[in-house]
Amino acid sequence: MSSVTIHCFEFLKKYRCLLYSPIDCKYRVPSAAPHVDLLQVAVIHPTLQTTGSLKRAEEGRGGGNSRKARSVSDELSRDMSQQMGDSHRRFLQTMMANGIVDEQGARALYQHCCETHSTQCTPDKLDDFIDTINSRLQPMFMQIRKGMSEDNGQQYYALVNMAETNVTRMSSDYADNELELFRKTMDLIVGSENGKASSTDILNSTDTMTAKKLKKSETEHLLNRFVNDKWLNEKRGEYTLSTRCIIEMEPYIRAMYQDQVKVCHICRNIAFQCQICENPACGIKIHNPCVARYFKGRSEPRCPACDDFWPHEIPEVRRPQSRSRR
Ligand SMILES: [Zn+2]
Ligand SMILES: [Zn+2]
Repeated sequence: MSSVTIHCFEFLKKYRCLLYSPIDCKYRVPSAAPHVDLLQVAVIHPTLQTTGSLKRAEEGRGGGNSRKARSVSDELSRDMSQQMGDSHRRFLQTMMANGIVDEQGARALYQHCCETHSTQCTPDKLDDFIDTINSRLQPMFMQIRKGMSEDNGQQYYALVNMAETNVTRMSSDYADNELELFRKTMDLIVGSENGKASSTDILNSTDTMTAKKLKKSETEHLLNRFVNDKWLNEKRGEYTLSTRCIIEMEPYIRAMYQDQVKVCHICRNIAFQCQICENPACGIKIHNPCVARYFKGRSEPRCPACDDFWPHEIPEVRRPQSRSRR
């Protein structure tokens, strides 16, 4: 059974890498496993076996092992508040294809999956539905995790890899010197006041590279790849960490930049693009969308920590746009 587990984990890892490389990438199965249908991926792993067809297959094979396997899977089923059904597998399949989806999209997808497989859909049970999938993904060190976009304040769900805790998770897609540039970009973003790094600063940072130095054109090309692979966002020559990057790298960022990184005073998530209290004794950070929500309708904004006047421009609360993705 262990070889099956490794195969499945490798497949998931490999599949994700494929998805995140080219932006226009469509459904592609790695050549190592051409026979695997994506919907079946969630079924391959022993602890994911819950369907009748697999149980029948086990029975067909006969022998003591199958009975043992069945009792283990029965035990697992009993532990679950809800069974992993085809609706869950379809949801996971789409998450694997997209990597990240906004809350509105996740709700629509949940409804679609339930309707397709004629199962009950309770609108406020999306997180329970995802918990069921997560309990089955856990042995493969993967998880669907929720986080907020620093741009628009919307919630997103991302399929993340828990196996690697740092940027080496990107090592199958990038060379060592390319990873070094990503680390340098992260250093610049985390060290900045506004959570941004300019392309000029990133280009200058290549002067101090220890790995093979990147040329200007190579650096520009690589930055585009980071954007296409959804690790960075770019606006007018300034780079920020993408929502997916923050969701996936949060444990690493908190550990790596303990002294520099601050959490938002309102939502308690790590904050990059934010406003800062100008009282030097205070200096709390609040995400731009959290600022918009917190100060909405207050005539004289004051810092929620020190009560000093909040001198920054208060952004408008942004309504969820129709089907925006990042
Ligand atoms: Zn916040
Ligand atoms: Zn303050």
